[in-house]
Amino acid sequence: MTDACATCGAPVRPVVSERAEPRLNRTAWAVETRCGACGAAEVVDGWGEPPEDVRAALVARDGLTRLTVDPATATKLRTVQALRHVAATSIPEALARHEELITTGLTGRPAPMELLADLLRDAGVAVVVRP
Ligand SMILES: [Zn+2]
Repeated sequence: MTDACATCGAPVRPVVSERAEPRLNRTAWAVETRCGACGAAEVVDGWGEPPEDVRAALVARDGLTRLTVDPATATKLRTVQALRHVAATSIPEALARHEELITTGLTGRPAPMELLADLLRDAGVAVVVRP
């Protein structure tokens, strides 16, 4: 992910970040650029799903994590509610992801997976997160 400084046009390398905010039940992302030539700084940020290029840059740098749950504690009601909250998915989509969670595990960027794990733990589901 490269860009040009909005002030002087010199090439800049944006730094992407994403974090879970469990107390606020959301993820937050940011793209920060600081120009080495003129010193201009810019931050673009938001909540929820980042734009496609930001998602790609996050995955390229951080990779994906895998989240699995203990099927004994993961009722469909619990997981579907948490999945719909984090990913704003439809019920059929959330049900498909529930199957992934209790079998192979669900992969995703670390921050959304962390938020999902947190919601699932709050709902009484035993969760394992690994790289
Ligand atoms: Zn500049």
